[in-house]
Amino acid sequence: MTPKATKTIAFQTVGCRLNQYETEKMAADLAQFGFERVNAGQPADLYIINTCTVTHRADKDSRYLVRRAKRDNPQSRVVLVGCYVETDREEAARMNGVDVVIGNHEKDQLPRILPSKLPALFDSSQKLSHEDRSLAEFHRRNRAWIKISDGCNQVCSFCLVTIVRGNLRCRPSDEIIYEISELSDHGYNEVVLTGVNIGYFRDKSAEPPIKNFTGLCDRILKSTALYRMRLSSIEPQTVTDDLVRLCADHSDRICRHFHLPLQSGSNRILKLMKRPYTREFFLERAAALRKAIPNALIGADIIVGFPGETEEDFADSCSIIESGLVDYLHVFSYSDRPGTAAADMTPKVSPQLIKDRSEILSNLSEKARATAFRRQVGQTLEVISEHKGLPGECYGISDNYIKVKIPDRMAGQRHIIMIKVTTSQPDFVTGEPVV
Ligand code: SF4
Repeated sequence: MTPKATKTIAFQTVGCRLNQYETEKMAADLAQFGFERVNAGQPADLYIINTCTVTHRADKDSRYLVRRAKRDNPQSRVVLVGCYVETDREEAARMNGVDVVIGNHEKDQLPRILPSKLPALFDSSQKLSHEDRSLAEFHRRNRAWIKISDGCNQVCSFCLVTIVRGNLRCRPSDEIIYEISELSDHGYNEVVLTGVNIGYFRDKSAEPPIKNFTGLCDRILKSTALYRMRLSSIEPQTVTDDLVRLCADHSDRICRHFHLPLQSGSNRILKLMKRPYTREFFLERAAALRKAIPNALIGADIIVGFPGETEEDFADSCSIIESGLVDYLHVFSYSDRPGTAAADMTPKVSPQLIKDRSEILSNLSEKARATAFRRQVGQTLEVISEHKGLPGECYGISDNYIKVKIPDRMAGQRHIIMIKVTTSQPDFVTGEPVV
């Protein structure tokens, strides 16, 4: 009797680190069905596409992945998951090539939902294990993400996230600490704490209760052997003095890297965005981090082209990166998101002007990043390899988020590599391994 061919499964993820984490969680949950996991982009029998809808671009990328999956294997089955589905479930279900749609709140229910929806791929008689699996592996990654919370209680006028992910929900800290210990035991030396609005973390049920995000970081430092933790994006107003102090006192185990979603350098636009701070407050927080944690890398998100953005407003955004307190920017082009307050705001900034302004800001960011990279020459950095690249093209990431070229022989491993930086390029540095 010919053995039944092992079915293959591929996971594709659009968007944030929280989505990346949830994709790995779905993969762990579906592992019990014996699929062979192939890399994203390879032909598969089953595709799980974890979508994003934060920008117009993200919607396009999510739809493109469905078309590509069906092109790569017309017989395949496609499961569309997440934020894009939440914006219009019916429309997502009608999309050509989509077999099953899964909302954000159902992401941990795939083992229960899929067998009945896709009987050709799942043996519905198989007894399910509902055991909640903490993650111990991240596919093709040497640094792991960990979800600490979901949702958000803020109401920024341009943002769909609260609509598609709901209000803030924090994971029990015991679960977080258990999962970090598992990952650390499996050789991960870095874990990135992620969520939608991590700075508002709290866990009243913990023993003793955890009042705030600083409390969680402190608990992780005390309760795990994890080598280093990185904070993913953290709202400026949640970068408290206590947090700055904890990061300074433990800069050997808390990465010297802070990414603050500023969104605009103009107080007038910040008000229209319903962001709860001013540019002065942001710069004061950046200065506090810079002073307390030498050689930290500080980054910020800025949206270009918010409705009504004038030349003066844009100049205010440029002055943030010119201040020298920020080392790089992630520049996003504004796009109307249906159902948000900003979608009804006028006047709209023309697509050409948005493009021009994005280029100007990206060029300023590249200059600032090159300055920050030059600052690393002579420093010894603790680097973790990203997955193996082409010969001579292997890189790793330092705790202060510097891209470091590493010898091929050291690539692909999870341990810490010490590199003494000798030269800097615009977007990476090189150096000698310190043994
Ligand atoms: S903080 Fe604002 S931009 Fe961020 S997820 Fe919440 S509502 Fe959206």
